[in-house]
Amino acid sequence: MDRFDAELTQQLLAIRQAGLYRELRQIGTGQGPHIKLGNQTFLNFASNDYLGLANHPALKTAAIKAIERFGTGSGASRLMSGSVAPHHELEDALAAFKGTEAALSFSSGYAAAIGTICALLGPEDVIVLDKLVHACIVDAAKLSRAKIRVFKHNDLNSLETILKWACGKSCKSKSLNRRAKILVVTESVFSMDGDCAPLPEIVEAKDRYGAWLMVDEAHATGVYGPTGAGLIQQLGLSNRIEIQLATLGKALGSAGGAICGRRKLIELLVNRARSFIYSTAPVPAAAAAATAAIQLVQSETGAQLRSILWENVRLFKSTAQVAYPEAPSHIVPIHVGTETGAVQLSATLFERGYYIPAIRFPTVPRGKARLRISLTAAHTADEVRSLSATLKQLVTQDKYVQNSPATCNS
Ligand SMILES: *Cc1c(COP(=O)(O)O)cnc(C)c1O
Repeated sequence: MDRFDAELTQQLLAIRQAGLYRELRQIGTGQGPHIKLGNQTFLNFASNDYLGLANHPALKTAAIKAIERFGTGSGASRLMSGSVAPHHELEDALAAFKGTEAALSFSSGYAAAIGTICALLGPEDVIVLDKLVHACIVDAAKLSRAKIRVFKHNDLNSLETILKWACGKSCKSKSLNRRAKILVVTESVFSMDGDCAPLPEIVEAKDRYGAWLMVDEAHATGVYGPTGAGLIQQLGLSNRIEIQLATLGKALGSAGGAICGRRKLIELLVNRARSFIYSTAPVPAAAAAATAAIQLVQSETGAQLRSILWENVRLFKSTAQVAYPEAPSHIVPIHVGTETGAVQLSATLFERGYYIPAIRFPTVPRGKARLRISLTAAHTADEVRSLSATLKQLVTQDKYVQNSPATCNS
């Protein structure tokens, strides 16, 4: 035990010295624009609860009803002890929402990515990732043992070069079932940069090379598109993308992940996705809350919440008076660079009552540490203005995002 302790002490010290130490901070309130640490209240600009639904009465009521009817636990995997109604209701709602034939829910977005990619690809295959895809996609790619190729962030030339190589390789095999599969994976709205993938062009490219496409809509679901289904909906690409990943724990205010696509895809995942098969089903209350959220997001109330969110985004853009992407999104990175600098800025903001943790390696590359502001529909205009004013005092202009022109909000 002593050696084990000594080893861990050393590793923790190294993490601290690199400015990468992380710790949990207990809060005494639920998710929302105001959170309480100890007895001090902070303005929370770190939550992915973009529409403020995590505490919405409609979701709470749906969860409570599900508990009363189905209890708190789910007992086993859905294939083992029966699949309760709330999961099926959720999957029907998701498929209708996303405009796909079917959907399958998982206990998390992370589990959905791991289960799906490993169900579809093996060592003979090729997976092509945008440089900035989420850790769960990277982990899934590694676990699948497919050959991993990475294209420059949102760079179509870089993608095309890789697809050309992969296609040449794939087409060498004469037998169809020996032919390598090629899967391209990107996010629609990027989690730590807030910019958007050029999806129409990526769809064209993957079609040209006979590849498949998986799009992670973790940060677009609920927020983009005429009924909030995501950027894929906004661009009218739903039936041209093989695999859509959604999360239920961000704008949808619940927890869990989902894959949406063809019925055959869902059928295969039920048979092959190990994170689905060998994991206890999500609790019925989470599924019921997510279903209520999907209904709400598509309603007039959902449209109003989105319009408040975009109003807050515009207000922040105009009052912060800084270089800001042409087409703003609800995720705004403030680039600091050094890990310690980002931690310091976060600490200063914390002293002034703002909760905006520093995002560091390995979430983002080394030396690209930043603060990540997420604006939500639950923030008031005054709260957004006060953040702008505080940032103007603390941050020099060049620290604001200078991404490739975002194409999010057409
Ligand atoms: C949060 C997130 C996930 C994982 O979803 P969870 O439900 O939190 O496990 C996947 N992809 C992206 C881009 C995310 O931001």
